[in-house]
Amino acid sequence: MSQPSTRLTKLQLLETVIDAIRDSGWSVLFISDQHPFELQIYRDAESLRLRIYIWNITHGGGAARPADEYRIQITGVAQFEQTSGVKTLILGWWAAGGVFAGYDVRKHSGSLGFSPSLQIRRGALELAAQTGFAPSDKGNQEIAIAFRPDFFAQYVRDLETLHDFGQSTEDFAALEAVAQEPEVNAAELPVTTQARRVAVSTVSRKLRDARFRKKVLTAYGHRCAFCGMALNLTDAAHIVPVNHERSVDETFNGLALCALHHRAYDQGLVTVWDDYSVRVNEVEAARLVAAARGAGLGEFRQGLNSSILLPSVVADRPHQEYVILGNAVRGWTV
Ligand SMILES: [Zn+2]
Repeated sequence: MSQPSTRLTKLQLLETVIDAIRDSGWSVLFISDQHPFELQIYRDAESLRLRIYIWNITHGGGAARPADEYRIQITGVAQFEQTSGVKTLILGWWAAGGVFAGYDVRKHSGSLGFSPSLQIRRGALELAAQTGFAPSDKGNQEIAIAFRPDFFAQYVRDLETLHDFGQSTEDFAALEAVAQEPEVNAAELPVTTQARRVAVSTVSRKLRDARFRKKVLTAYGHRCAFCGMALNLTDAAHIVPVNHERSVDETFNGLALCALHHRAYDQGLVTVWDDYSVRVNEVEAARLVAAARGAGLGEFRQGLNSSILLPSVVADRPHQEYVILGNAVRGWTV
């Protein structure tokens, strides 16, 4: 057949989902690994119960179908089960591009009939592989949404609102504009409801975050700039914080940091200097010791490189002016 190695088994699809949830910064508990999968996902105080139907995405097949029509073929399910308090996801996985497609369960709540299929345009899958997210108009006020694994949790959180963009061509156009160019000024796009206005700017912010995170982690080989640890415990930190007017989502304003050093950097306990040396805040260290909070300080110092790991691409290295400004706004004066 024409789809040799890209069809995953149900358990491989489950693994892909689990990886995606973690990649988007959430944790996961298994409730059931029988299809449809049931998972509890959580981050901080937020928690969501999910029921996940998932199939491989394949080409529509047959000369009668448009060349850019891809689809999932629903098998083994007579009707999508919906329960209050549980978010039901209908997903496709396109292994060739590493993206999911999401469909609106509210549009498919009845009896499904014999082996139906749900479509998505290849163009949307490709755009999502590039930028992280793309809506695809299915007609009848329904849209499918293509998204990269690092956008998984965001898709789940805004599931209903995102699919509701199918109700208005104007709103759909705004969402598509953001997907094509996340840097667009989301506040200036015409959108008909307040909930969708919020969704458009959330998607825009989230796409820029995902893009920044990917660039920074790639530049640093997923290793913490301060200690060298990888272990999927690293994240991208802004040097000039994101709320500052001069902050930019460029690699030269970023550092890959492990969970410990990200927290310590944000709290001003450790920083990078403009000669790329790593410095502990001695005033803060002394204050912690005096307040009987100094335990672990020796190990903390030992765990730090004397200067940061640098990306091999020179243009990706922290720009001096950002390092200086980042330290100034965090209150470093030494
Ligand atoms: Zn570290």
